[in-house]
Amino acid sequence: KTVVDRIAAGEVIERPANALKELVENALDAGSSSISVVVKGGGLKVLQITDNGHGIRLDDFPLVCQRFATSKLTTFDDLKSIGTFGFRGEALASISHVAHVTITSKTPEAQCAFAGSFADGKLLGKAKPTAGNTGTTIKVEDLFYNVKTRRKALKSTSEEFNRVLDVLTRYALRNAGVAFSLKKFGDTRAVLNTQTGASVKDNIALLYGTELSRELLRIDVPAANEYGASVAGFVSNANYSSKKEVSVLFVNSRSVDVPSVRKAIKALFSEYLPKKAHPFVYLDIALPPETVDVNVHPTKKQVHFMHEDEIVSLITDAIRAALLDANA
Ligand code: ADP
Ligand code: MG
Repeated sequence: KTVVDRIAAGEVIERPANALKELVENALDAGSSSISVVVKGGGLKVLQITDNGHGIRLDDFPLVCQRFATSKLTTFDDLKSIGTFGFRGEALASISHVAHVTITSKTPEAQCAFAGSFADGKLLGKAKPTAGNTGTTIKVEDLFYNVKTRRKALKSTSEEFNRVLDVLTRYALRNAGVAFSLKKFGDTRAVLNTQTGASVKDNIALLYGTELSRELLRIDVPAANEYGASVAGFVSNANYSSKKEVSVLFVNSRSVDVPSVRKAIKALFSEYLPKKAHPFVYLDIALPPETVDVNVHPTKKQVHFMHEDEIVSLITDAIRAALLDANA
């Protein structure tokens, strides 16, 4: 059973970056305004995330790393979100099958924080009282210590670090107003550092450069269409070329790749940009949850949805209009 769980977990958690993605989403779900991440060995040795969200109740400690724990939790009140991407309550369970997990957490009501260690979905012993502020710290150590093949399939620790940075950059960009930081273990200087109260545009300047931020065109498609799809974001103007293609797409708050959207935008920009020049694209797409393909696993980066062709057209029409307007 444990081996089956471990293999299943290895399918869900492929590398430090997608473990982090799940942890960041949990921190955001908890209403955090500050999320800091510390990594060692590209996140393989240590991947630690601290938030100031609503915390985990002591009663819930034995449950959080169980598969499909979500609905068993006392804090569970978000039935709607189950429909969004089909699967829920698998992330922490999966991580605990392929790494050593320690959770320290304090709810606003609790007198003190509690800390517990987890393995293979289970809390080891009891959670113990400890000092700590309201919020949660999750420390993931020795990722894939028990899945040697997965560990070997990964590239260098610097490559893993870059992917961790990429995930955090995307979430920091979209969740402007939440302070994100990323540090390498032992370093005092943060590799990434955003501020509470920043706007998306501020964050684009900070994370992708001020030169780009001066060339941004706002995209805003309100949900008043027959698909109930809204699209908000920024694209670079036709006179700007990114060093490489930057496509930051969110669907219903999750960082994903929608190949049809990405490719259509690339084709559109190729009419406006010289060969080898690349656009910057950031789009936050909101769709009625029941129209997003629920068979797509949350850790799979690509998603599809109903009326995809029509929604792709909505997006490319809006971008074309913005480009024509800016260069009229
Ligand atoms: P899901 O997010 O789909 O519910 P997870 O395995 O990612 O499943 O997390 C399990 C549960 O653990 C969450 O539903 C939440 O109640 C709790 N949890 C995880 N991380 C945090 C956090 N940072 N702050 C508060 N609660 C958390
Ligand atoms: Mg989660």
